[in-house]
Parts: sequence; C-alpha cells; structure tokens
Amino acid sequence: MRRDDSISPTSALPLLEIRRLCLDFGTPRGRVHALRNVSLDVPFGQVVGIVGESGSGKSTLAYAAMGLLPENADVTAGSIVFEGKDLLKMSAPARRSLLGDRLSMIFQDPMTALNPVRNIESQMIDIQHHEQGSRSEKRARALEMLHRVGIPDPQSRIGGYPHHFSGGMRQRICIAMALLVRPALLIADEPTTALDATLEVQIIRLLKDLQKEIGCSILFVSHHLGAVAELCDRVAVMYAGEVVEQGAVRDIFHKPAHPYTRALLECDPGRIRKKTRTLPTIPGEVPSLLGNKIGCIFRTRCQHAISRCVQENPGEYRVGVDQVARCHLLGEERLVSA
Ligand code: SF4
Repeated sequence: MRRDDSISPTSALPLLEIRRLCLDFGTPRGRVHALRNVSLDVPFGQVVGIVGESGSGKSTLAYAAMGLLPENADVTAGSIVFEGKDLLKMSAPARRSLLGDRLSMIFQDPMTALNPVRNIESQMIDIQHHEQGSRSEKRARALEMLHRVGIPDPQSRIGGYPHHFSGGMRQRICIAMALLVRPALLIADEPTTALDATLEVQIIRLLKDLQKEIGCSILFVSHHLGAVAELCDRVAVMYAGEVVEQGAVRDIFHKPAHPYTRALLECDPGRIRKKTRTLPTIPGEVPSLLGNKIGCIFRTRCQHAISRCVQENPGEYRVGVDQVARCHLLGEERLVSA
C-alpha cells in the first residue's frame, strides 16, 4: 500500500496543508519576499484554485509544493504537510520519490514540459517508473490514457514526437502523463493559458472528468476566473505574495469580502454585462516585494484604506462558514488569527 495509513481519504485532515509559509528569493537587489505567511488546505478529492494577478505568488506556491524551486529560493518559515508529512523536512531523495507518483504536475507550456527529442511512447513509459508491470503493459496503459484525453488513433500516434502535435494536443498528452501515475495530488500551473478559448473549455472539462474518475485532488493555478469557477470547489485569492481571501468558490464569487477580490471580479471580462470598448482594470500596480512590508499589502490600491491599514497587517477574519479574508474593515469580533 503506497498511501500513508495515518492519512486517508476518510481522514479529517486535508491531503495538503500549507501553514504560515514564508519564502524569499535572494537577488542582487536584495531579498524578494515572494510568499508571506501563506496558509492553504487542499482537502481530499477536491479542486482548489489559486487566482491573482501576475506576480501574486501563485506559481511560486505551486512550485514550492512540488519542491521545484530555483536555487536562490529560501523557505524562511512554515510547513507544507502532504499526506501527514512535512515536505520541507524530508530528505531530497525522499521528496523526489513522491514526484511522478503521489504528486504530479501539469506545466503552463506543454512544449517545454515534453522532451522534444524523445517520442511520446518512451516518455509515457518512463513516467510509469514507479509502477509494476512490463513495458508492453505500460505501453497499453499509455494508449488507454491517450484515448481518454481524446488523442485520435493513439496506436499510430504514440510513436510521434512533441512537434508532431498541436498545442492543444500536447497539453492533452501532458495531462495524460500527469494522470497516468494516478497521483494523490495534481498541481496544474496555468495549464490553459497557452491555449485558445475553445481548447481551454475542452481541457477544463477533461480535467474535471478525470479528477472525478481518478479521485485525486487538484491545485489549479490560473488567472482565468471563469476556468476556476467551472472547475474548482474552493479558491484562494493571492495578492503580492499573500492569500488575502479563501473559501468555497460559490461564496468567493457571490459574496467576495476583500476589496482586492471584489476588484478582481469586477475586471473579469466574463462578468461584464454592458458593451464596452475598454476593459476595467485595478488602478495602480502590484508593489515591489523587496524588503520588509508594514501594513496591508493592498493599501496603495485600495479605495477603502484607513490609517490602520498603513501601520498594521490585517489578520484573518471569518466572513462565512467556509470563507476567511484579511481586511481590517471586517470587524474585530470576526478575527480568527493575527
Ligand atoms: Fe483595504 Fe485596509 Fe482592507 Fe487592506 S486592510 S484591503 S487597505 S481596507
């Protein structure tokens, strides 16, 4: 049995539990505080979305969970507990052994994710190195999965190289490879960004179907709110390295509590009902993450900022049964953590 017996799909504990994670990047200009005090759960069998503008730290968080950070990354505090074990305390070989087994990832660009000089067959067989079975059995599984993700005539196409496939097909192949190992957690980093709108819908539906079939959890990073609404059960909204609001998708999309979440939703082209030639934007820019920050990280762009927002970083306030947000305006009686 590969799964840790202490943590199972029936356990009350989440599959992935990120707590107070702080991560810096060392740069010639100083330390960039890319993640600050980030806490997030991915429950068993659920899809959790991470949304936010570019530079919000969404992909950094996904890569931190996978253990695929560059050398200048430095986790300064916090934990990433997966199946009951803190990944940050594991040895490098133990952590590597989870990849392509319990943890799997789909990257934004399928062309760079696949090896251009090896055919699809060899790459799909290699990814099953943790699995039992002969090469022909692994090939048969690969063919079955290519069929599941909608690659026509997999028998004749499995010998092809990545450049023989369109962008949408390559991303389907990446999804097939990521799910072939039946991971407990699939991390998808902007998997539909490089695709056109029609293909995006197809890929989202495919992910949804396969997630239900395999029963895995998904951490889905995207800047596309419509895709998150379609696919996810829960969502975390990130801004400048912090999770400013999180909860069930229906609550966040229908009753956003944080000024940034509201602004983000107002800018979503899919929610604009009136005809317009100019799309709304959030005035101002994401602040530099160099150096220590005091006060609310969103204050330079927030229309509701008060003097307290300059001096004090807001704690976490409960705004619903399954929804928390970080904003001083939410009322002291709702404060759950500093
Ligand atoms: Fe705006 Fe202040 Fe709330 Fe931050 S804490 S979102 S600046 S009102």
